[in-house]
Amino acid sequence: MLTDKHIVVIGGDARQLEIIRKLSALDAKITLVGFDQLNDGFIGASKQTINEVDWSTVDAIFLPISGMSMEGKVDTIFSDETIELTGEQLKETPDHCVVYSGITNSRLDSCVNEAKRELVLLMDRDDIAIYNSIPTAEGAIMMAIQHMEITIHGAEVAVLGLGRIGMTVARTFDALGAKVSVGARESRDIARITEMGLKPFYIEDIGKALRNVDLCINTIPALVLTANVLAEMPLHALIIDLASKPGGTDFRYAEKRGMKALLAPGLPGIVAPKTAGQILADVLTVLLEE
Ligand code: NAP
Repeated sequence: MLTDKHIVVIGGDARQLEIIRKLSALDAKITLVGFDQLNDGFIGASKQTINEVDWSTVDAIFLPISGMSMEGKVDTIFSDETIELTGEQLKETPDHCVVYSGITNSRLDSCVNEAKRELVLLMDRDDIAIYNSIPTAEGAIMMAIQHMEITIHGAEVAVLGLGRIGMTVARTFDALGAKVSVGARESRDIARITEMGLKPFYIEDIGKALRNVDLCINTIPALVLTANVLAEMPLHALIIDLASKPGGTDFRYAEKRGMKALLAPGLPGIVAPKTAGQILADVLTVLLEE
């Protein structure tokens, strides 16, 4: 139980509702900032503006998955209020107060460093990334169905990267009957791809490997689908780029060549906000109870 813990949830999207629901069930004292348009009456939760929060009693602060902007603003879909979190506010919290965010940037880093508070990045955690790969792969299936004229079954699908997302995506498309090849740069990953019964290729051979693809799903957060590579791909090939912004595709060149290339960030929150929220809530409550 989280009785007597004071947790401030600042901004976010539908995923935060699952977190708030779970915190509420665990008897935490919850302050919601940026939720004035939310009608759900969560037990133990009070809505405040950022300037009304009594930081001196706060044990934990939850920021959205996106963290904060370089201007220090925190996004919320439940309010028109502009929310800005500063190092000065964090300094008012007790020393043990922990800040949780999906990702960070130099602005958030300097805020928490200035206040000497701990920052926990949820998206750096393997457990969350692997759980999140499930709704991400389902989102990729949704996009493939929406944008391809052929079935996934029997399609030539190339997955770039065998990380936490790439492995789930490759396995999922294989299970749907696609002919899946996977590009990686390490020989251990080439061995793993072979073991999975899929066709491996080294990323350095990407041009040749993509000559016959119907669908290419990129999970590598680096420019791998360059103009040179795109120029060798079939014109009908669909590109779904799952890597975080700006993705790994030369989108300007893809458009110029008339290829359909889609950057698809934040799929878990779009296709399965409840599941994505539950994934976060489960891990967060374990961290808080620790
Ligand atoms: P990950 O586990 O770190 O995997 C990244 C993969 O990219 C690894 O196979 C890595 O290979 C490879 N890689 C990285 N840089 C490379 C380079 N320069 N050349 C060749 N290969 C390279 O990351 P992840 O959790 O799978 O996430 C992948 C991306 O998807 C991230 O950008 C993440 O933010 C994003 N993401 C998107 C969604 C969405 O909804 N679209 C959801 C979750 C995550 P090595 O092992 O050899 O380094």
